[in-house]
Amino acid sequence: MNKITNHMPTAELQALDAAHHMHPFTANGALGKKGARIMTQGKGVWLTDSEGNKIIDGMAGLWCVNIGYGRPELGEVAKRQMDELSYYNTFFQTSHVPAIALAAKIAELAPEGMNHVFFAGSGSEANDTNIRLVRRYWDIKGQPEKRVIIARTNGYHGSTIGGGSLGGMSGIHAHGGKLAGIVHIGEPNWWEQGGDMTPEDFGLMRAQELEKMILNLGVENVAAFIGEPIQGAGGVIVPPSTYWPEIQRIVDKYGILLIADEVITGFGRTGNWFGSQTFGIKPHIMTIAKGLSSGYQPIGGSIVCDEVAAVIGTDEFNHGYTYSGHPVAAAVALENLRIMQEEKIVEHVRDVAHPYLATKWAGLTEHPMVGEAKLVGLMGSIALTPNKATRAKFAAETGTVGYRCRERCFANNLIMRHVGDRMIIAPPLVIKPEEIDVLIERAWKSLDECYAGLKADGLFK
Ligand SMILES: *Cc1c(COP(=O)(O)O)cnc(C)c1O
Repeated sequence: MNKITNHMPTAELQALDAAHHMHPFTANGALGKKGARIMTQGKGVWLTDSEGNKIIDGMAGLWCVNIGYGRPELGEVAKRQMDELSYYNTFFQTSHVPAIALAAKIAELAPEGMNHVFFAGSGSEANDTNIRLVRRYWDIKGQPEKRVIIARTNGYHGSTIGGGSLGGMSGIHAHGGKLAGIVHIGEPNWWEQGGDMTPEDFGLMRAQELEKMILNLGVENVAAFIGEPIQGAGGVIVPPSTYWPEIQRIVDKYGILLIADEVITGFGRTGNWFGSQTFGIKPHIMTIAKGLSSGYQPIGGSIVCDEVAAVIGTDEFNHGYTYSGHPVAAAVALENLRIMQEEKIVEHVRDVAHPYLATKWAGLTEHPMVGEAKLVGLMGSIALTPNKATRAKFAAETGTVGYRCRERCFANNLIMRHVGDRMIIAPPLVIKPEEIDVLIERAWKSLDECYAGLKADGLFK
């Protein structure tokens, strides 16, 4: 077989892709007929595809390329580490410098009292670790019946059987099932579900579902609550201001463990190192992945507080991955964090990029079909609606309009995703003001085109 290169014609690459490559979260038959868009290069916030289009990436890949594409330092570190010690495990009483250094760096950046890291290869794996970790914690404490984990509808915690079960997406549960011992409460999604309540009252009500669930199950059966500070894959749902303080009050009152899934919100996305800091949450465990390495290597983990780590450490924990703390991935993640710190990328989000984007993003609500615009740090969403006052849905299946809008964005060389009829962005954190201008200009153009198409097709009513 010939070497497969970037220089093959797009159609040939697409045919091979269709013949052999099973894409995640995709109807592969339909994609095979249409042909995948093939990315060939990345630099900063820009991608190039096999047709030579220059695309601005409003999603940082899958929420992960925080420092932007194509930083040569990471490749150099990877090469050096492969040459020096390409692999060794961290089982059997051994360790190595990259895992040690990365764990220590993460402990330095994490909130006070969170000084321990269990490494995984991804966010999903890390959440699988968390299921076992919290149950093991209560075993050792002499309360083995505390096993139930409470999560949220429309939360996303990955796609392994554990991560998918913690997540509250019925489409995922429908394909392969859901683990026992995980239950879901409602999400703090005021726009879709708040009815006539104020966002604040609705946020309180949704948080209090946690208390009701704990009492229903019996606190003696509940191990933990897990939530994303801001739901990402669920549509960048920013909770009302009342939500997290009430969750914290309930978790504290009943003494259950709190897991903050920071896979997206970690490493600068919200304008602080962690979303928990932005929302004043005090978790026992934080799930990390994505921005930890800016996607240059697959690596994730669980940041564990001192008390939980001490309890777990009193006995053997029969859990681990061949690639836990993989030296190349760890070295690359460490270099990513060095760049984040030295180039003050979190400060850039907070002081430059967020304030600059915030006014323009809010300005999108002047568009006839944008009902609300939310932005925390560099994580934003807009709700598409035919009636802003009633927050109405379109007269088409949910997601139809969002999908059409996303297709216009793609055609205009902007990557913006849709979740239902919400459009979402999470650009690389290094995005510059002039690049934000391009993003906003293309977003307006795409919205205008989508709007015109909907009117022509009689869908805007
Ligand atoms: C992406 C994501 C995960 C899963 O991470 P993978 O690396 O894809 O396994 C878990 N939690 C949240 C909040 C995520 O956004």
